[in-house]
Amino acid sequence: CGIVGVLGQHEAAPILVEALKRLEYRGYDSAGIATVNDGELGRRRAVGKLVNLSDLLVHNPLRGKSGIGHTRWATHGAPTVTNAHPHKAGPVAVVHNGIVENYRELRAELAENGIDFETETDTETVALMAEYYLNNGLSPVDAAFKTIDRLQGAFALAFLFDGQDDLIVAARKGSPLAIGHGDGEMFVGSDAIALAPLTDRITYLEEGDRAVLTRTSLEIRNEAGELANRETRRIKLDQ
Ligand code: GLU
Repeated sequence: CGIVGVLGQHEAAPILVEALKRLEYRGYDSAGIATVNDGELGRRRAVGKLVNLSDLLVHNPLRGKSGIGHTRWATHGAPTVTNAHPHKAGPVAVVHNGIVENYRELRAELAENGIDFETETDTETVALMAEYYLNNGLSPVDAAFKTIDRLQGAFALAFLFDGQDDLIVAARKGSPLAIGHGDGEMFVGSDAIALAPLTDRITYLEEGDRAVLTRTSLEIRNEAGELANRETRRIKLDQ
C-alpha cells in the first residue's frame, strides 16, 4: 500500500518509520522495513499499527543508512508477519504495492526450478525471481530489471540488495512512485508526501519506468529499457 526508501547519511530505520507514518492515512494491516548495514541485509516486520514496528525496533534495532519500508494492505495472503513486506529471498529484499497478476505462472516456473515458497503472497514471487536471476549471474540491477520485465499487473516496487548499501532499484507500472533528491541522499516514496520533511526536489516516475538510485545519481529507463529524461521539480508539500 505504501512504499518508502532511503539511501541516506543517517540511520535509515527512524527515517523509514517516519516516512511510513505520513502514509498511514491510506490504511494498512502490517508494516516492515529492511536495511543494509555493513553490507548485510536485515529486516523487521510487525502486524498492526506502525507503533508495533517501532516497539520491535526498540528491542531489536536495525542499523544501516540504506533501507526500504512498506505498509501493507493485503491482497494475496493473510495479514501475518510472514506475509508482511519487505519480502526477502537470499540476497534481495522487495517492497511492493499493487498486484502481480501472473504470480501463479511465475510460481509454477520457480517451482519447476526447485524453488520453495514461504508465503501465499504475489510479492514473494518477485523476490524469488530476482534471487533466481542473481544466482544465474546477473548483476543486481539486471536481475531486478529482468524480474520487472516478467511481471504483469499494476504495481510499484523497490528492491534492496545484500552487499549493496548504495543501491535501490525502483519501478512503476500502474501505481505511482516518486524519487526525492537530497544532498548526497536519495529517497523513494509511493507518495511524495512521505518525503516532505526530507526533500522538496521530486522526480515522478512515468508509467513503465524503472529507476536505479544511488546517493548521488538517478538513472531512469522506460519500459523499452531506453534512458529516459524525467523532469525534477521543486514541489511545495505541507510539512
Ligand atoms: N499484493 C501485495 C500483498 O498482498 C501488496 C499489497 C499492497 O499494495 O500493500 O502483499
